[in-house]
Amino acid sequence: MRLGIDLGGTAIKSGLVDDAGQVLFYETLPTNASGGADAVLDALTDACRRQLARAAVAAVGIGMPGTVDEARGVLVRAANLPLADYPLTQALSRRLGIPAYLGNDANCALYGEIYAGAGRESDNFLLVTVGTGIGGGIRIGGKIHLGMEGRAGEFGHMIVAMDGRPCRCGRVGCWEQYASATALCRMTREAAAAQPDSLLARQIREAGDVVDGRTVFEAARAGCPAADAVLETYAKHLSVGLNNLTAIFRPDRIVLVGGIFREGEFLLSRVRERCTDPYLVEISALNGQAGLIGAALLPERRDPNSPICRLLRHTAAQTPPER
Ligand SMILES: [Zn+2]
Repeated sequence: MRLGIDLGGTAIKSGLVDDAGQVLFYETLPTNASGGADAVLDALTDACRRQLARAAVAAVGIGMPGTVDEARGVLVRAANLPLADYPLTQALSRRLGIPAYLGNDANCALYGEIYAGAGRESDNFLLVTVGTGIGGGIRIGGKIHLGMEGRAGEFGHMIVAMDGRPCRCGRVGCWEQYASATALCRMTREAAAAQPDSLLARQIREAGDVVDGRTVFEAARAGCPAADAVLETYAKHLSVGLNNLTAIFRPDRIVLVGGIFREGEFLLSRVRERCTDPYLVEISALNGQAGLIGAALLPERRDPNSPICRLLRHTAAQTPPER
């Protein structure tokens, strides 16, 4: 049995993963990111201990947003979490009494897909994770492409508008400023403000001015034209990046991961309509657990004979050359 953690900006997903890649005892707990690094460590410890009470495991793997040096197991650059320069793995290992390994969350989702999802049928696919930002993973010819310092696959920072919106990366016009779940929430608020009499605006007011990734879908399903227009625009933004990725990589599928894809066909059909190759694009079949499954495999990435490394054709994590 393996223990995997998907550490996000708002929630910690945890679960025990068996040899078939099935997740047992799936749980989510709040990350408590607003409480700072120590609060996140406490929440993480709690999530692990709850699972360790159910089964003995030799190590824990943690997927998280940001730039992670998988070979060294350290966070190089944090994203959406207050953990910059924080010795997370050491602190967690000390508390749990087992080793802890870090990986980038999008790469973990890619490992999860390779082990238990789309990778069972495809050697050439891309993974696109849509949430607070947009991340990605690349598997070509059976091998994953991590790039220097594991920084390849930052699909969200592909520029789609020359003089577009400013991005947290310092450039302008990045895809995630238009097609992340964060962007969808912003577009939802803008539409409600512009059309205060719409069903969308009324529902937001009734919810105490709270907007999340589901808000616009609820209003659109109830027949609100303003919400429907937001989704049409959002689908256009999403498809622009997917079409760029298709042109560059020519994969045999692009797997979409993220909470908003729980909306299924209601969103996917709008995206596919605008894709150059509609049936390349599909929603992950792993119910939002690809990242957790891949994280659980991280400890084994150090063993070239492990099942995941054999699947990755011995592309075990390597330390980048010193510059
Ligand atoms: Zn950017």
